Amino acid sequence: MSVVLETRSLTRSFGGLTAVAQVGLALSIGELHAVIGPNGAGKSTLINLLSGDLRPSSGEILLDGAVVTGLPAHRLARRGIGRSYQKTNILKSLTAQENVRLAAQARHGGRLFRPAAGARDLLARAGSALARVGLAEGATRIAGQLSHGEQRQLEIAMTLATEPRVLLLDEPLAGMGPEETQRMVDLLRQLAADHAVLLVEHDMDVVFAVADRLTVMVNGGVIASGTPDEIRGSQAVREAYLGEVAA
Ligand code: ADP
Ligand code: MG
Repeated sequence: MSVVLETRSLTRSFGGLTAVAQVGLALSIGELHAVIGPNGAGKSTLINLLSGDLRPSSGEILLDGAVVTGLPAHRLARRGIGRSYQKTNILKSLTAQENVRLAAQARHGGRLFRPAAGARDLLARAGSALARVGLAEGATRIAGQLSHGEQRQLEIAMTLATEPRVLLLDEPLAGMGPEETQRMVDLLRQLAADHAVLLVEHDMDVVFAVADRLTVMVNGGVIASGTPDEIRGSQAVREAYLGEVAA
């Protein structure tokens, strides 16, 4: 399996607080890598560092083996890193399709020097992203009128429209009912076939069902990393996290 995105001793502090501490992590195409940990563990900050929305305090990020530490989000997006946000990023008064087109345009617009061809290309890209998440039928619906689950699907479509190889997904299942969750779980598995997926998720049943690999963060640091079986069997994880959830 080929590593696309890798971190070495990645660290980010906010004043005296180290939100991400010396994190080493590798994401590969074909693998769904879940990052779990209690609230405040540093999961969203880690995603912000990987997407270029935040600059690291120290450490390195490598993309395809090249150091990309400190590159801004739009440059990382062009090189194949896509993300969704924990809080929704949708423009609710526009249609689903318009949202996806805007997302694609925001990341790729500068590259398209023939406006007419560019518009067709964006439309096609929006259509295939919506189809991929199962929202083809809802393309012309107003985003604010989609169900909660459909809005989360739309957000994934917006990320896919930027044609990423790496998908950084921050709690894409938050607030979903069982049926929507199942649909999203199926989608995540499909996406992991041809993307490197980093999933932050609280629902341990989902995490252990979909993840190929898990990294457990507590207080900014990685306390364990391994297959679901390895993590389930880890005493350190039980004490620091899973035990706490069960209690
Ligand atoms: P998680 O996503 O695992 O719940 P976060 O990455 O959001 O955790 O936060 C990790 C820690 O960093 C928390 O203590 C949080 O309060 C702090 N933090 C996150 N972003 C900022 C920021 N922009 N400024 C100051 N502190 C922050
Ligand atoms: Mg978070």
